[in-house]
Amino acid sequence: MSQPTKAPSILELYPEETRESASLLKQAVPLMMRHDIPPNPLHYALWYTYSKGQEPELNRRMDKIVKDFDSFPPETATKLFRDYIIRGELEEARAGQQQVIELVDDIEDEVSHSVIGSHNYQASLEQGLAALQEPIIDDLPTVLSELQQSTQLMQDQQEKFLYRLRAAQNEIQHLRGQLERAHLAATLDSLTRVFNRHAFTRLLEQALSSDHQGVALVMLDIDHFKQFNDQYGHPLGDRVLQHVGQLLRDLLPPRAIAARYGGEEFCVILRECFDSASAHAFAELLRLKIQSLRIKVRRTDQVLDSVTASFGFALAEAGDNLESLLTRADDALYQAKRNGRNQVHPATTESALSA
Ligand code: GH3
Ligand code: MG
Ligand code: MG
Repeated sequence: MSQPTKAPSILELYPEETRESASLLKQAVPLMMRHDIPPNPLHYALWYTYSKGQEPELNRRMDKIVKDFDSFPPETATKLFRDYIIRGELEEARAGQQQVIELVDDIEDEVSHSVIGSHNYQASLEQGLAALQEPIIDDLPTVLSELQQSTQLMQDQQEKFLYRLRAAQNEIQHLRGQLERAHLAATLDSLTRVFNRHAFTRLLEQALSSDHQGVALVMLDIDHFKQFNDQYGHPLGDRVLQHVGQLLRDLLPPRAIAARYGGEEFCVILRECFDSASAHAFAELLRLKIQSLRIKVRRTDQVLDSVTASFGFALAEAGDNLESLLTRADDALYQAKRNGRNQVHPATTESALSA
C-alpha cells in the first residue's frame, strides 16, 4: 500500500542552515530593490531561490522578465512560484495541492498593490525587523529598514493617488451633470419640455436614413390660437402650449418622438407604425385629449373648454426625405383646417397621386 502523501513543510523546501539562508537572503533583497520588485513573501521566495541558483531555467526566465518589463507582473510571479518552487512537492503531495494553491492566492491577495496590503505588510515587516536584531545577519536589519521605508513611501503614494482619483471622479461627475444639462437645454423646448425644432429635424432625418419603413409623421396645429391669445392673454396661451406638451409626453408610444415645430405647431415621429389606421388612431386620441383640456383662468376662476387642434399625418414611403414627408403631413393638416378644424386628415399617398 502506498504511503499517504503529505504537504511539504517549509524545512523541506528550504533545508539550508541559518547562516547560509541569511547569506542567500542578503543576495536576494538587493536584487529585488534593484529591480523595484514589491517586497512580499512570494517575491522573497522567488528571489531567494534565484540566489540559490538551483533552478537554472527559473533564473533564465526571471532574467528575461526583468529585462523585458519594467515591472514584475504579479500573475507571472504567481506562475513562476507554482512552476518552480512548489512544483516537485506538489507531485508528491497531491492531497495538499489545492490547499497550497489557495494559500499562494491568499498571499498574493494579501500583499497585492492595495493600501491595506502595504499596511499589513509593513506591520509584519516591523515585527520581523525586531526579531532580526542578531549579530550573525550583519547588515540585514539595514536592508530591511530601507525596505520598510520604501514600503512607507509606496503607501503614501497610494494614498495620494487614491485622494487624487476621488477628486477626479467628483470632478468628472460634476462635469457630466453640466454636460447633460447643456445637452438637454440645446435639444428641448423650454416652454413645453418636448424636443425643439432643431433636434426634431435631426431625429427625423436619422429615422428616415436608417429605414423609412414604419416611420409616420403626425403634425398638429392649435385652432384659432391667435384669437385665444387676444381674448385671454399670452400667458394663458403659454399654459395651453404647456398642457399640449404634457399630453404629448404622456401619450407617446414607445420609440416615438414629440417636438414643438413652431409657435403653436407640434410634430410627432411615430416608429413601428406600418398602417394609416394606427397613425390615425394616435392622432385621434390626441385630438380628443386636447379637446377635453379644461384650462382655468386664475383671475376669474372661469374654466375654458374651447381649445382644439387640427391634425395631418403621413406615412413615410420609399424615396421620402425630410422635406417631402413634412410637405405631405403639412398639406394634410391644411386640409383638416379647410374642412372645419378639430379633426384628423391623412396625407394623400404618392401612389394615389400617380394613379
Ligand atoms: P389656425 O386655426 O388657422 O391655426 O389659426 P391660428 O390663429 O392658430 O393661426 P395663426 O398662424 O394666425 O396664429 C398663430 C398664433 O400662435 C399667433 C401667435 O401669437 C401664437 N403663438 C405662437 N407662439 C406662441 C407662444 O409661444 N405663446 C403664445 N401664447 N402664443 C403663441
Ligand atoms: Mg400655426
Ligand atoms: Mg393655429
